[in-house]
Amino acid sequence: MSLAGKVAVVTGGSRGIGRAICLRLANMGARVVINYVSRPEAAEETRAQVEALGSECVVLKFDVAKSAEVQEAFKQITAECGRIDILVCNAGITRDGLLATMKEEAWDEVMAVNLKGAFNCIKAGCRPMMKQRWGRIIIITSVVGFAGNAGQANYSAAKAGLVGLTRSSARELASRSITVNCVAPGYIDTEMTSELPDKVKEKILAEIPLGSLGKPEDIAAAVTYLASDDARYVTGQAIHVNGGMLMG
Ligand code: NDP
Repeated sequence: MSLAGKVAVVTGGSRGIGRAICLRLANMGARVVINYVSRPEAAEETRAQVEALGSECVVLKFDVAKSAEVQEAFKQITAECGRIDILVCNAGITRDGLLATMKEEAWDEVMAVNLKGAFNCIKAGCRPMMKQRWGRIIIITSVVGFAGNAGQANYSAAKAGLVGLTRSSARELASRSITVNCVAPGYIDTEMTSELPDKVKEKILAEIPLGSLGKPEDIAAAVTYLASDDARYVTGQAIHVNGGMLMG
């Protein structure tokens, strides 16, 4: 599988799962645009790792939740890189809490970044793909978008929403040879999960047949498959990468 000559935009590409995706895409020959919003030092570390692979990359700050910023950023990417072939909507946040006491802001923030953020980026990113008549859009959802999770009503609702967004955009964009799929990670070892209390982690581990948390690279492998020509006939689907914690 080679992605030589392709330009890939990875939202939240500066650390965690996004960094692993950037590295894997770069390793396959893609020119990568690494997006971040608040931690430039993490984005620069990803840039250094991508460049160490001998690949070119661009680091770009924008908030996926802000449509004007996203539009401006995608204009800049198209001007600088000439094209956009692969878009990975990976940026995400959690603001956990029980439904009965969840603050409205916690609901709104998670919806704005996790769900509207993907909409903003797909809307801006699909235009150059439509002109090129080729594109790959990959959305990072979550196991909890399918199974639900106590304490994550906002997050699981946003992640379930991404599945609908995947399927609708897959139907709209298929005639231009643009595929849209999602990857649904289980529990992956990143900063997002490092904050979980040990007791919660033990409970989660007990529910994973393969017996360990996943690695960011496990998600990157599924993403690069979907980005490749090998997946040309796959659209509107969800690939579950969760150690078996949810089946079917
Ligand atoms: P991390 O918290 O490690 O990284 C989040 C990334 O998203 C960072 O690069 C961050 O940038 C970026 N980001 C956050 N908000 C915005 C924003 N408004 N605009 C642009 N970028 C933003 O998360 P993970 O790597 O763990 O998760 C990546 C994705 O995978 C998320 O969508 C998450 O929901 C999903 N996921 C993760 C699972 C896990 O177990 N870890 C399980 C299932 C799904 P910055 O550092 O600059 O703030």
